[in-house]
Amino acid sequence: MARIVVLGAALGGLQTALLLAQDGHEVTVLERDPRPPPSDTELAWSQWPRPGIAQLRQTHLPLARWLQLAEAHLPDLVREMTEAGAVRMNVLAPEPAFHGPLLAGDERFDTLAARRSLLESAATRVAQGAGIRIGRGTACRGLRSSRGPRIPSGGASGDRVPLVTGVETHAGGTAADLVVDCTGRRSQLPSWLRAIGVPCAVDESGRRGFTYYSQYFRSADGAMPTDRFPLVVEHGSLGLLRIPADHGTYSLCLIGRSDDQQLRRALRNERAWSAAVRLFPGADRWLDGRPVTDGTRIMAGLTDRRRLLYDTQRPLVTGLVAVGDAWAITTPTVGRGLAMSLRHSLLLRETLRRTGTAHPVELVTRFAEATRDSLGRVYERTAAYTRHRLAEMDAHTAGTVYRNPDWIRAKALALLARRDTDALRAERAAAHLLPGARDVLRAPALADAVTRLVPEVEQHVPPGPSRADLLKAIHS
Ligand SMILES: Cc1cc2nc3c(=O)[nH]c(=O)nc-3n(C[C@H](O)[C@H](O)[C@H](O)COP(=O)(O)OP(=O)(O)OC[C@H]3O[C@@H](n4cnc5c(N)ncnc54)[C@H](O)[C@@H]3O)c2cc1C
Repeated sequence: MARIVVLGAALGGLQTALLLAQDGHEVTVLERDPRPPPSDTELAWSQWPRPGIAQLRQTHLPLARWLQLAEAHLPDLVREMTEAGAVRMNVLAPEPAFHGPLLAGDERFDTLAARRSLLESAATRVAQGAGIRIGRGTACRGLRSSRGPRIPSGGASGDRVPLVTGVETHAGGTAADLVVDCTGRRSQLPSWLRAIGVPCAVDESGRRGFTYYSQYFRSADGAMPTDRFPLVVEHGSLGLLRIPADHGTYSLCLIGRSDDQQLRRALRNERAWSAAVRLFPGADRWLDGRPVTDGTRIMAGLTDRRRLLYDTQRPLVTGLVAVGDAWAITTPTVGRGLAMSLRHSLLLRETLRRTGTAHPVELVTRFAEATRDSLGRVYERTAAYTRHRLAEMDAHTAGTVYRNPDWIRAKALALLARRDTDALRAERAAAHLLPGARDVLRAPALADAVTRLVPEVEQHVPPGPSRADLLKAIHS
């Protein structure tokens, strides 16, 4: 069994540590932030200083795929989260387009709704219960490395690839057979790699991205508003998330373009923020709750970015892998981060079962292949979504309509899903990364039905306020 150092004790790192410890590996987690989460849910929300997770108090909902994977591989984690108050919710049921009833099999659309601080706190308790060592206040500052193994075959035969043999922290070094970077979206991995002579390229969907303007509320009676509501609505240059959470809390989150200066200036103001929320039909009732965040929380630059660390022909480095956000971040509006991260951790465990750590080139090459085959397309589809949606927002701001054929097809599928519950199931299954969902979308009957709606979508003028109406509402 291997000595494994996992960097980062947030959900991604803890899930990875738990999965690898299940296989008997000796796992140590190093975490930059010093304080463990309070076990009291409300204190974890209001008091826990956690600069290492900038998005801790931002709107979160894991995809249904995350819950499926967690129930199959980390049932204690799901139990602990549920006991702490996370709510099992079916993502089909609240959709206004869903014409029930829920059928056998629809439980695949279940997920756990909770504030991120509750998920973190529960995961910490489960990791501690499993005997995982967490070194808090111990930031990784760099990598230890040796010349590394020769690449056994291929054009560059005889070349050596650096082998990471541990990490450096202020307290000294920690040796490892494998270092797993789970330090998230702000991972310093590219500079650590450069310091040992390894270049690491980055692939981005665009420089701009989205900005979240979010608030959490608690309903007076501890229940959600009873009307049906879409979890996400995209309208013109603004979007709205309505996301239930634990203990009667829920989040309202406006989404704009990060370079939309007019919105950025205005939406800091409480009254303007509420006025913008009210532009979405039915959302005004959600403003009746008691705020549990102090004002609007703003996070900008939310985009897709992937580190091209994994070359399936020739590894750049061995003895080290990056998992979850440290490998790739995706735009959060589609909520894929936690599901992709857990899938990535599982791929690492499966790869380690096949290769062990004694053959470092084999390990990183097989992990590169698994990452490409299982998550590469998901990343690319998410980056394509971001480009289209930003272009649509640009067009709306300019008073025009974005008419890209791929985007129109996506809109036609969304329109069909509003009219036909089976199409809604197919569309939601793909959005929640459920197994087999892409094949269902490609089925001829569904594809033809989408094609028939394309002319209607092309003629369609999107409902809702114009850009001028939006600006008037937030400035009055
Ligand atoms: C605004 C926003 C909303 C989101 N909404 C959703 C959603 O609804 N659904 C969803 O599935 N995903 C969502 N995501 C994505 C999700 O938050 C991430 O996928 C998830 O946080 C990844 O977890 P992680 O543990 O890999 O990284 P992080 O949560 O970023 O944690 C990284 C950890 O590494 C530690 N660390 C950093 N540097 C070092 C170092 N040098 N040494 C040691 N430790 C270090 C940090 O302190 C932290 O504990 C959202 C993201 C954002 C930004």
